[in-house]
Amino acid sequence: METFTTPADLHAWCAAQKRLGRAIGLVPTMGSLHEGHLSLIRLAKERCDTVVVSVFVNPTQFAPDEDYAAYPRHEARDLDLCAQTGADAVYLPPPEAMYAEDASTWITETLVSRTLEGAQRPTHFRGVCTVVAKLFNTVQPDLAVFGQKDYQQVAVIRRMVRDLDIPVEILRAPIVRDPDGLAKSSRNAYLTPEDRATALSLSQALRAARQAVAAGERSAATLQTAAQNTLRAAGWEPDYVAIVDAETLTPIPTVLPGATAMLLACRKGRLRLIDNTLL
Ligand code: AMP
Repeated sequence: METFTTPADLHAWCAAQKRLGRAIGLVPTMGSLHEGHLSLIRLAKERCDTVVVSVFVNPTQFAPDEDYAAYPRHEARDLDLCAQTGADAVYLPPPEAMYAEDASTWITETLVSRTLEGAQRPTHFRGVCTVVAKLFNTVQPDLAVFGQKDYQQVAVIRRMVRDLDIPVEILRAPIVRDPDGLAKSSRNAYLTPEDRATALSLSQALRAARQAVAAGERSAATLQTAAQNTLRAAGWEPDYVAIVDAETLTPIPTVLPGATAMLLACRKGRLRLIDNTLL
């Protein structure tokens, strides 16, 4: 497995792979890898000859009051996991290799990114789009794999790719969960055993909504109220509980099974978790 720390070196290697006729899959991550990330690498490997994993805690997608400095970093372990999972190259750029000190160019998606996470974190998706576009320029992948865990992120990136004619296929991979239902996340490392137990309320609220829809419930308001009650009863304060069109993320009053997603975010003190499901 190769490792790279500068865009120029990674780009040259990827260009050589392409000249050999190899299809390239890209898996962007912020490291602290877990089974969720590894499932993305495996999917990329199934579809592509060469898989590049980026491990970069992207400063521009964190607000000043967020956890950039504290974000868990486990580089040596991440490299081992990438090698074991079949990655062909890992990109670990230091921030100064990614961003010139006076960098002044941003990619801003102006519709799908404005609600939900974007409303809570106004500069988040600008940072995500900019870093993902930079990775696409460097690697020029045929396929890029993102997790449904960050549902809105995939929707925003699909928009960016469509609107900017970026020649890459975007694959949305299913959410990997712990056996008890908690969606795997690098930020789960912040949870005390007690927080972790109450955090099961997120997946429980989503499961209850899926069951209600299967039993015939179609009112978004009813599903939202039930989920909010479940979260609050467990001590988690909802930032949002949204029932939206699965593609545009526009709020909808009535569930259309198969074309609707339910997204939630909630807080407990400084902790913040997100989860979602298709309905
Ligand atoms: P992150 O390192 O949190 O930026 O995540 C990198 C990629 O892994 C993103 O596309 C995430 O959506 C995806 N991911 C994170 N957690 C999971 C999970 N539990 N299941 C599937 N994909 C995930």
